[in-house]
Amino acid sequence: MSVSIRIVLVNTTHPGNIGGVARAMKNMNFDELHLVAPKKFPHVNADARASGATDLLENAVVHETLEEAIADCQIVVGTSARGRHIPWPVVDPRELASIVGPLSAEKKVAVVFGREDRGLTNEELHLCHYHVHIPSNPDFSSLNLAAAVQVITYELRMADLYAENNEEVKPQWGTDWDIDLADSADLERLFTHMEEALVDIDFLDPENPRQLMPRLRRLYLRALPDKVEVNVLRGILTATQKAQKPKD
Ligand code: SAH
Repeated sequence: MSVSIRIVLVNTTHPGNIGGVARAMKNMNFDELHLVAPKKFPHVNADARASGATDLLENAVVHETLEEAIADCQIVVGTSARGRHIPWPVVDPRELASIVGPLSAEKKVAVVFGREDRGLTNEELHLCHYHVHIPSNPDFSSLNLAAAVQVITYELRMADLYAENNEEVKPQWGTDWDIDLADSADLERLFTHMEEALVDIDFLDPENPRQLMPRLRRLYLRALPDKVEVNVLRGILTATQKAQKPKD
């Protein structure tokens, strides 16, 4: 795969599942495993389930927060076993592969997997550009963590094998132009600044924020802004904050 794809596991409870994920990833030729605050790691059960993929466990990068684990990624994809309160762009694993597969080698993509018992929180899902849902049985929708990683990395690998033989596969517009796409750290700075400015101008009531920030996040994430566009937006926010301060 030419694009760099990072698998991120959030707060995994069972170390055996981390091992199972490492094995699933290595089978599909992926090697970037990032862990956010795992309950028990390293652990003998992780090594046992990884079988011959313990090298991925040795090289796994452990982070304290999800924000830190995805800070340098330009496309962030959250996984979800069920529908959520605010709809978000949802793709199936094959559609995901058709979006990220053709991206160039410098692009970094994170696919984020949730806790065994509760999945990802809404706040975590709101950090993501897309949500991927494996279209499982609606009455029994949640796969084992390592099984979910297997299905998604299989589709990513299939897209990669196809792209090797088909030069006409085109990247999605906007992902391959003059300025680099903003990464997650740029976007989070933008959203923090936006929230602050909207409070300053009394548009956002911190006591009753409703769904304003999630909706604005969804809008800007959908646009895949580049680094210059994010700087322009932040410049507008700064100017707005200055303009509403009383002049002396
Ligand atoms: N009970 C949780 C599911 C946790 S399953 C919930 O309702 O959200 C553990 C993780 O496996 C999920 O966070 C997700 O990363 C992945 N997963 C399981 N089933 C999935 C599905 N059908 N589609 C996408 N990801 C899935």
